[in-house]
Amino acid sequence: MTNKESDFHDHPLVMVNQQRPYTCDGCKTEGIGLRYRCERCNYDLHHQCMFSSPKLKFQGNQYRFLEKPLPGPNCTRANYCIDCRNCDACGKNVKGFVYHCSDTGWDLHPRCAKLDCKISIGDVTFWLEKQGPSTCAWCNKRLLKGAKKKIPGWSYVSNYDDYNFHVYCVMEMAMQSSSSASSSAITPVMEETKLTDLRVLIKSKKNGANSKNKWLEILKIFLRTVFSILLGDPTAILASTLAHLVTEGFLH
Ligand SMILES: [Zn+2]
Ligand SMILES: [Zn+2]
Ligand SMILES: [Zn+2]
Ligand SMILES: [Zn+2]
Ligand SMILES: [Zn+2]
Repeated sequence: MTNKESDFHDHPLVMVNQQRPYTCDGCKTEGIGLRYRCERCNYDLHHQCMFSSPKLKFQGNQYRFLEKPLPGPNCTRANYCIDCRNCDACGKNVKGFVYHCSDTGWDLHPRCAKLDCKISIGDVTFWLEKQGPSTCAWCNKRLLKGAKKKIPGWSYVSNYDDYNFHVYCVMEMAMQSSSSASSSAITPVMEETKLTDLRVLIKSKKNGANSKNKWLEILKIFLRTVFSILLGDPTAILASTLAHLVTEGFLH
């Protein structure tokens, strides 16, 4: 076990690995797996929130770290506001630790600021883009459900037919598979309609068992990579289990 001092908490934080989901006390979003924890105060931080840096560059823009989000453009609060800003990558509300870019006005959760801009698996490349050219393979929509117009949520867009995913939806997949993993159900309890959509997509685009298996393998590696970042767990052990559960679901 490693004890680590943190600027954000009075007691040293201990690195622990628990499958139980938690809410990070830094960025206030969910996490599973490896985290930095104070047992006495029930205080948890994602890896990326524990090791935040004052500044960072992401997709060509400069961001600075803030412990609390700035008030939005039409907000009447003076110093910070936890109600009116959303992460430009995942579309979710920003309530705590955030990287802010003053040139673009964009905000990123610390975990989302660590997303890979490009993930290459064999001859398939997924690019992180501000707006996907077509619909997301998971939610079947272009824009996020309930998203504000200005925050469409970024997507991973591939050069492989219609295999695009909202960052938001990849997080949903991780959370759903983790709850089915911890409920000790024999088969993963993914939302059946969504799985059916994906199965239809796989069938319609790829004929033959080889290409289907190839796609499932690519998807598994892609999910494992993104899960690990979004869950704040760089070990990727749990991420790998969850990615396996999701892709298992495609085979039933
Ligand atoms: Zn966090
Ligand atoms: Zn404490
Ligand atoms: Zn506000
Ligand atoms: Zn985010
Ligand atoms: Zn989606």
